Amino acid sequence: MPDTIVMKFGGTSVADAERIKRAASRIVKQREAGRRVVAVLSARGKTTDELIAMAEEVSPRPDPREMDMLLSTGERISCALCAMAINDLGHRAISLTGSQAGIVTDTSHTKARIIDVRADRIRQALDDDLIVLVAGFQGVSTSRDVTTLGRGGSDTTAVALAAAIGAEVCEIYTDVAGVFSADPRVVPTARKLPQVSFEEMLEMAASGAKVLQLRSVEYARTHGVRLHCRSSFEESPGTVVIGEDETMEHPLITAVTHSTEEARITLTGVPDRPGVAAAIFRALADANCNVDTIIQNEPREEGRDAEVSFTIASEDLRAAERALEPIRAELGIAAIDTDPEIGKVSIIGAGMRSHPGVAAQVFETLATREINIEMISTSPIKISCVIRSEAVPEAVQALHEAFELSLAEVQRERPIGQEAR
Ligand code: ASP
Ligand code: MG
Repeated sequence: MPDTIVMKFGGTSVADAERIKRAASRIVKQREAGRRVVAVLSARGKTTDELIAMAEEVSPRPDPREMDMLLSTGERISCALCAMAINDLGHRAISLTGSQAGIVTDTSHTKARIIDVRADRIRQALDDDLIVLVAGFQGVSTSRDVTTLGRGGSDTTAVALAAAIGAEVCEIYTDVAGVFSADPRVVPTARKLPQVSFEEMLEMAASGAKVLQLRSVEYARTHGVRLHCRSSFEESPGTVVIGEDETMEHPLITAVTHSTEEARITLTGVPDRPGVAAAIFRALADANCNVDTIIQNEPREEGRDAEVSFTIASEDLRAAERALEPIRAELGIAAIDTDPEIGKVSIIGAGMRSHPGVAAQVFETLATREINIEMISTSPIKISCVIRSEAVPEAVQALHEAFELSLAEVQRERPIGQEAR
């Protein structure tokens, strides 16, 4: 059987008629090379933002089910238009909604998770020699309502389909040439990475790199889907995401990422007894708020109240405040403060696992720039610092320079088996 590939086009790659036609001809080219093609499209340009703004014009708290009915239309528009363009190029294409494509999700509207992909209709269409276009970012819930998968969710649609139909590769076409050592808008000398490991990509997506939705990377790793992020405007290869055992490069540090779309919540006067943290974070989890860096200070004297702070995506701030209000009363928490002006800068690299001194160098670099670190969190391959949001660009530039990430010759960790004794 010929190879099957999944090609996903992001919003900027289908933003106007010209670009839709360009995507159509790239799809057709793959078909003409003998491959079977499933293409997943995002909503055009800023469509999703515009739809959200429309909802907010008519309702202060739009009903989540109706929100999904609204938001899912953006991707349908792209697919129908692209199918028309492909048909005009002399090929046969069919567009499908997420539901028609067999994407089954749970029932959490606006943030649904894919729980099953029933791809028989896609397989049938491919067998009939059709190019299949699937509306990204959406599915149908187990209670038969239309759902959406969260911002950036078309990536996850593409990966889930690639896994379900056993595609050879899932190509993510975007307006940048691949995954970079930092956001090129902040660091013009940032380097395009030929490859990154799933582990690094997960940390990068979780700490602000916008190329791939976090969930899509998780899904690809679990299901062994090969991901290739590349430009829809040029032919050159982009960045391949592969298993750590497959990578040739073992850089000490791979990338600096950042985010300014985060907020901090601080609870003061928190009773110091077992079960309190559990109650706070259970309430946030039930409200579907994803919490990141958490810091709790033990009171210095026994019986005095503790302080708990954590960071959260800005878009979840309102929901978190609503979820915490009843808990505050119940537990007798003194105050809940929010700070939307924080930012986060992170450095990621599989090589730091075995190298001491990386954290010290990060903190020294920020210190020389007089940047104050407000919170720190780490994983074996990541160090994140919460700082003032306005200091983020300078921090990113300084760290990128300090770790010499622009150099094509990466600083490698020692080859496996040659550890210092
Ligand atoms: N259109 C949706 C968004 O802007 C989904 C996507 O593009 O992946 O988040
Ligand atoms: Mg995206």
